[in-house]
Amino acid sequence: MTSDFRLTRRSLLGGAAAAVGGALLGPVPVASAATAAAPRLYTRAEWRARAPKAAATVLNRAPDHIVVHHTASANATDYSLEHAFDLSRSIQNFHMDGNGWDDTGQQLTISRGGHLMEGRNRSLDAIDAGNHVMGAHTLSHNEHTIGIENEGTYMTEGPTDALWDGLVATCAWLCDVYGLDPHAAIVGHRDYNSTACPGDTLYALLPQLRDQVAAGLSDPRIKIRARIEASGLPEPRHRFDHGPTGRPAR
Ligand SMILES: [Zn+2]
Repeated sequence: MTSDFRLTRRSLLGGAAAAVGGALLGPVPVASAATAAAPRLYTRAEWRARAPKAAATVLNRAPDHIVVHHTASANATDYSLEHAFDLSRSIQNFHMDGNGWDDTGQQLTISRGGHLMEGRNRSLDAIDAGNHVMGAHTLSHNEHTIGIENEGTYMTEGPTDALWDGLVATCAWLCDVYGLDPHAAIVGHRDYNSTACPGDTLYALLPQLRDQVAAGLSDPRIKIRARIEASGLPEPRHRFDHGPTGRPAR
């Protein structure tokens, strides 16, 4: 499955590489493919992150799963870039000052305006190198999973189209970089810990997310195909509480 998927993605990306002047003599290098698929990502410098208390640990291997989260904050209607940057700063402050961690827990954040931002320090460099930054987003599974926090609370309503498009593009990029099969790799926080995260609605959309990532970004609109059943799993108790994430001092 994985090798078939990679061939499919590489052949798709081959067209993109050719369009920017890449030669198609032989296999397309993974590094080029990753660059071709990378969405616009706002760096920590751009959202004006604080310095971390300590540099993140980088593991010399790829993560094997992508964990989808909601931020358990308001379903904001401010879709601006400045709002997105403010969200990233608020999460960082909560993780460092509230949880006592070294830095932002998750590696990536997407706002309801669809803006993708780096989370934990060293995440972008690690992804570009095919490596894994140890985060703090899914208790007992941070050694092998990369986490994406999606702004909002998705217990009853779905994400915005802009957020959805950003999530599809981000997962496609990560699957390319790390050589992951989206049908096996993309999971929700509740698949590992006792939590409703990423919300009953967004969790119900994960099969569609996997399909769209595997299909190479075609048909990016959200279609909620089934009635959403309430899971009864633990819901957020306060802003930014999306369930068990990491041990203290991470
Ligand atoms: Zn979560």
